Amino acid sequence: MNRREAIHLGAGALVGATATLAGLDRPLAAQAQVVNPTPPPQPDSRYPMPPKWNRELRQLAPNVYAYTQGGGPGLSAAGVSNAGVIVGRDHLVAIDALQGPIPARGFIAAATKATGKPFGRMILTHHHGDHVNGLQFFDPSVEILSHPYCKSEMVKAVPTVPKTWTVTPGIADQEEERHLALPTVTFRDDLVYDINGVEVQFRVVGPAHTWGDVVAYLPQHKIVFLGDVGFFWVAPYANNSWVTRWIDVCNAIIGWDVDVLVPGHGPIGGKKELAEMREYFEVLRVEARTRYEKKMPPGVAAAEIRLGRFDNWIGPERLIMDTVRWYAEWDGTLTPDYNANAVRQATIEYNEVKAKEKKVSEIIPLQRMEDLAEAV
Ligand SMILES: [Zn+2]
Repeated sequence: MNRREAIHLGAGALVGATATLAGLDRPLAAQAQVVNPTPPPQPDSRYPMPPKWNRELRQLAPNVYAYTQGGGPGLSAAGVSNAGVIVGRDHLVAIDALQGPIPARGFIAAATKATGKPFGRMILTHHHGDHVNGLQFFDPSVEILSHPYCKSEMVKAVPTVPKTWTVTPGIADQEEERHLALPTVTFRDDLVYDINGVEVQFRVVGPAHTWGDVVAYLPQHKIVFLGDVGFFWVAPYANNSWVTRWIDVCNAIIGWDVDVLVPGHGPIGGKKELAEMREYFEVLRVEARTRYEKKMPPGVAAAEIRLGRFDNWIGPERLIMDTVRWYAEWDGTLTPDYNANAVRQATIEYNEVKAKEKKVSEIIPLQRMEDLAEAV
């Protein structure tokens, strides 16, 4: 294998070690077992590392819970999404369905144990697999609602869904039948429920993280479930995003009367954490724009850019896709779809820079970026 092939394959081939390939961003998978994730770039010791947080059902208010999945430094971000539940008179209303059999069944068991009620309704924040792949584990009578874009992307994904689950630690413990259940109700505008006296506003805020984003705002309790409009201590994933609008949506939500923000990824936080995520994009915008003006390719730009405290966030390789999305906005080529070729090309460019600098541990397996595209 020559050097060029090694760059295309990624560090695993270059250093002869598979640790960097070992499920870092495979759908959730063996993240807990990953010994040495060597995330590129290296953490910056001048800044704090993200906290650790637990998989737990946490009560936020009477009849309102968040289900967070555990995470922290050294563990991957991909697929580790959060969900919510609101307790109705007869049944539970879920916000998102999680990634696969283990998290979905864990969520269902924890919520029914805490409340003694079954799930009756499910609202999806967006179409990404780590928020919708667990739908099949909910009772088929559960009504599933989403934005029409979310549904259309899920319909497109159906032919690509494998027939069985692959055994993956943290996601699936047996090879069982797999299918993607689809929304039965779609809504284009805000939808307001009175759930057992709790007003829940499902607000259509996209395009931001995706073109179909919905957040759940509970004004009485000053709580908002952000879906993937919020990534706290986790690098935001922008493969389907319109980042300028995403920043606008963050600013709008920061203007709401709200105290508790449940992100799609990361620990529960407040407005401060959402403002931090917005700043990740703003710092990257400045850094990337300078290099865009110099006609530097996006992957080369990403290899040069340091984001200070944000370099320590989980999933730092997302800097590459996020730079690609900024470039697409400036080029006027942005579409709702993930541009797999552009991200792949940028990752190759990034790896070439790292190889030249002899920073072998920072070379990114292309497979990791492709798995990321499927997982989040
Ligand atoms: Zn997402």
